[in-house]
Amino acid sequence: MECEVCGLEEGEIVAQIEGARLHVCHKCAGLGKVLYQPQQHSQRQQAQKPLAQYEVVEEYDARIKNALRNMGLSVGVLAERINEKSSFLERVAAGHAKPTELLARKLEKELGIKLLEEAGVQQGAPTTSKSAGITLGDILEIDRKKKK
Ligand SMILES: [Zn+2]
Repeated sequence: MECEVCGLEEGEIVAQIEGARLHVCHKCAGLGKVLYQPQQHSQRQQAQKPLAQYEVVEEYDARIKNALRNMGLSVGVLAERINEKSSFLERVAAGHAKPTELLARKLEKELGIKLLEEAGVQQGAPTTSKSAGITLGDILEIDRKKKK
């Protein structure tokens, strides 16, 4: 349905304008009181946020060490550049301490390497879904476990 005020945009918002309930577009909704606004767009965006979770790759230490070697950098110099304690970075480069996502991002940027990968979308999902049969997510999960 087209906006009942301007007729130019999609009238997906129901607003009360001068006593009348009208289907209006986003722009014209500002003329009156919004009674109903579809939440689809914002909900979709919110739902995507938790999916974009990253975890540090298993071989982060090797990748850091390789990058340092290739660039001829020492851990100390790197630590200064990214404003971190060199003692901590040494432990990270030795594989004794896993960098946080924030630190990993700094290292990625500074060294031009990849340390983060997208975490499994279904990670930590409740197991109660099993009673509902096998879903595509389960199949992917099984697949992933087989490969390991
Ligand atoms: Zn309009």
